[in-house]
Amino acid sequence: MPKIDSIASSNKIEKPQKQVSPNSRTRRSVRPEPAMKLPEELKKLKEDLVEETPAEEPKPEVPAPVAEKAPVEEPKPAKPELPQPRRSVVFIGSECYPFVKTGGLGDVMYALPRALTKQNCDVKVILPKYKCIPQKYQDLMVYRGAFEMDLCSDGRRFYVGIMELVMDGVVYDFIDNEEFFSYGNPYTNLVDDIPKFCYFGKAALAALNYMDWIPDVIHCHDWQAALVPVYLRTLFAGTKINSAKVMLTIHNLRFQGVYNIETIKYWTNLPDFVFNKDALTQNWVDANMLKGGLTYANLITTVSGTYANEIQTPFYGEGLDAHLRYHAGKLRGIVNGIDVELWDSSTDKLLAEPYSAKDVIEKKKANKLALQEQLGLEQDENKMVLGLISRLTNQKGLDLVNDVLPSLIDGNTQVVVLGTGDRQYEDAFRYFENEYRGQVCSYIAYDEGLAHRIYAGSDALLVPSLFEPCGLTQLIAMRYGTVPIVRETGGLKDTVLPYNMFINEGNGYTFDRYESGLLLDAINRAKTLYFTGRQYWDEMVLRDMAKDVSWENSARHYRALYLELKP
Ligand code: ADP
Repeated sequence: MPKIDSIASSNKIEKPQKQVSPNSRTRRSVRPEPAMKLPEELKKLKEDLVEETPAEEPKPEVPAPVAEKAPVEEPKPAKPELPQPRRSVVFIGSECYPFVKTGGLGDVMYALPRALTKQNCDVKVILPKYKCIPQKYQDLMVYRGAFEMDLCSDGRRFYVGIMELVMDGVVYDFIDNEEFFSYGNPYTNLVDDIPKFCYFGKAALAALNYMDWIPDVIHCHDWQAALVPVYLRTLFAGTKINSAKVMLTIHNLRFQGVYNIETIKYWTNLPDFVFNKDALTQNWVDANMLKGGLTYANLITTVSGTYANEIQTPFYGEGLDAHLRYHAGKLRGIVNGIDVELWDSSTDKLLAEPYSAKDVIEKKKANKLALQEQLGLEQDENKMVLGLISRLTNQKGLDLVNDVLPSLIDGNTQVVVLGTGDRQYEDAFRYFENEYRGQVCSYIAYDEGLAHRIYAGSDALLVPSLFEPCGLTQLIAMRYGTVPIVRETGGLKDTVLPYNMFINEGNGYTFDRYESGLLLDAINRAKTLYFTGRQYWDEMVLRDMAKDVSWENSARHYRALYLELKP
């Protein structure tokens, strides 16, 4: 039986008293003993970018032995001063690269904490310990403690184990419970996911009390962690963790965690007053976890300023626009960045010819020829290649692309599509490939390497989304000197400045209304400059490569909000 280290500090948590009976639904994980790492393991650990030394416990400095005549040392470059004061933040969310990732949330949960450590933030990330986390990371986790927690309205109690791993100055705590997290994927279906995330939100707060790690700010992400603010101000009101402020970030409003009130009442045992039309209840019969979180959060953020405004309108509001308008005073938008080390064309080993801003114009041609060869397109460096890298769903504006595609194929233009998703779009793109052999390639798959080569080998990238909270592909495209052609929505509007031919300024081409004629017009404007004003096109390529799309800027904005919450 696992040893329990100490009594959890939440008044809702007690030491388990006895072995769990075989027919109890609460299952426990085997606790690995904390072990010293062997040298080989340490080496591997470094390869995986994993650091063993916890950032939160700096070792005392040992004074260096004094040499008789100290050699003259080169003056070391001064360390950049960290912004003051230091802030402690805990991220709570359902996925995080490299442990588990299904979409953009996984990227943010990975990159933002790392960027925040450089902004003098002490960051902990709490995640579910899914079975699908690669074994090499599971092997590096160290047991941090365990306790039992009450959860359901009938008094059922559940095991909460905490496994810890430290990587690049960020502490990751994984909530361990095999009953909830032993499925293959993080998300299965709502019937299973609702109890899973009712448990996870409460367990995360209980774990913070248990570890006595009380941060300045709790930063929750999407509906899976949206009950955290609700639990915090109700069931945890009398506990230490209630001194923290709480922020909730919406990465995609389309997903909200909605289920009938009875089920959510049963799984949370939250007091009746939270099942109120201004908090969790929607349409009289359902409870909406995200809606409740928005009510109880001190601040709400989303991943671009434009999306923050859009979601307050019926068209983009996914049924929560009125609720968001009511809470508009505490709603902000901060655009995402991209990992500029991962997306660096000068060191990218996946490219035929890595390149920097110095040789992009020449080397892009070489990458284009290699891409054309790989995909069976007619090899010609003078053709304009339009790329599209996307999940194939209606969010991504593919109906517009299907409408205009035949008009694009003019003997001087090629189209490369990479994506998987809805059958109707997959089939449509296969049809076009067949119809325009040698000029259109539809690669229906998820392929990281090919994505890199398309970013490098294309001249322009299409992102005509119906809605786009932030969007990463346009940011990656710009970093790779590929001109984005986007619809002016969400983060696309905030990150792509439209080209102005009169003052030779801008990063790409944009259009506003969701109409195929406007997309075609934007592409034709791009073609005109590409074929008749190449010098100006090349200048735009260089402007795009010079644009700051890193996380640093965003991290500074998040830090400012943390300070706004707790000066
Ligand atoms: P979303 O999160 O809505 O899918 P984003 O633009 O935020 O859209 O992120 C998409 C990310 O997934 C980008 O990094 C893009 O390169 C990548 N991606 C999308 N489809 C594919 C694919 N078929 N193969 C490889 N990478 C893909």
